[in-house]
Amino acid sequence: MGTSVQQALEQLKLTGVRMTPQRHAILTYLMDSLTHPTADEIYKSLSPNFPSMSVATIYNNLRLFVEAGLVRELTYGDDSSRFDADLTDHYHAICKSCGTIVDFDYPPLTEVERVASRETGFVVEGHRMEIYGLCEKCNKTSIQ
Ligand code: ZN
Ligand code: MN
Repeated sequence: MGTSVQQALEQLKLTGVRMTPQRHAILTYLMDSLTHPTADEIYKSLSPNFPSMSVATIYNNLRLFVEAGLVRELTYGDDSSRFDADLTDHYHAICKSCGTIVDFDYPPLTEVERVASRETGFVVEGHRMEIYGLCEKCNKTSIQ
């Protein structure tokens, strides 16, 4: 994982965002988790420690982190957004049954971008690539 919580906090300070205990907790949770949580999942996990915090608060703070370039928003399918604090180049495998998102490493598909640019005349800025299927857990359940 590229950035530490401390580095992230410094970066936030530069963008003029005031750090609060809630923001600190949300950011730490995201950076410690590999599960690409939704705002709802973060809420369920943090609300015992922050009874006054709402899902809306969490969502607004996530937006703020995305705008500050600390967190990536993943909008796959119609489900609610998931959030990823790992900003390094990596791809995702998405379970069509439970929605789990798992990281995997693969060299960035720069050749595809080159070909697309050559054949279309586009100035290519990026691409999306996701793998869809059943995660190990759901696959086991479906076999039984
Ligand atoms: Zn699954
Ligand atoms: Mn990821």
